[in-house]
Amino acid sequence: MRILYAKALTYLQSFVHLFFPQLCLECGTDLISSHAVLCILCEKNLPYTDLFKIENNLIEKIFWGRVPLHAASAVLYFTKNSIVQTLIFELKYHQNKKAGWLLGRLIGTAIKEAERFNPIDFLVPIPISKKKQRQRGFNQTMIICEGILQVLPTLKIRPVLKKQKSSRSQTNKDRIQRGEKIAHVFELDPSMDIKAARLLLVDDVITTGATLEAACTCLWEAQPFSISIAAGAYTL
Ligand SMILES: [Zn+2]
Repeated sequence: MRILYAKALTYLQSFVHLFFPQLCLECGTDLISSHAVLCILCEKNLPYTDLFKIENNLIEKIFWGRVPLHAASAVLYFTKNSIVQTLIFELKYHQNKKAGWLLGRLIGTAIKEAERFNPIDFLVPIPISKKKQRQRGFNQTMIICEGILQVLPTLKIRPVLKKQKSSRSQTNKDRIQRGEKIAHVFELDPSMDIKAARLLLVDDVITTGATLEAACTCLWEAQPFSISIAAGAYTL
């Protein structure tokens, strides 16, 4: 009965695929898997940074003198009008979770192969404002965390960071204009214990590192054992 059901499902999927083919976002190839956003070749040809195994890499250097980190890396280079930009846009503005899960799987694979990132107790997604979450329907960094779990299923997500309310963010904007640090953009959820835990902070794109620095500063208040950073992409 179960086999019959599985066969019927495969036929149904093939039938749907005939009318709604899944196309590779980069080359337009008709994809076989309904879970994919890129074909195998385009996924292989992404601009990988290969920095996860490298100590004192250029992403870690961004945070030197700003916040103590155990390790930091991003899996892809972000450039304008590239497939990486398309993936990020799909995730953030077209509600395409599959693009986020792909970024997460790529991070998960890189971490699995880079000993210095392990062990990890909790994944901490960078939060977005409640307003943005309502508009988008989800927090994109949470989707990336879910993708990491597809590769490393024993890890746990602990969304301990919260974005402060916009009225207070406004105050923060004034502070930034005055040249002060943006450490107070985030706050901790006191119901979640991360004391002595090894954290991996997850973001979609690293540009100046200001958001991540603020997030780390906030996280350190809860006295974790260590903080590392992993992002989908790094802006060149
Ligand atoms: Zn392709």
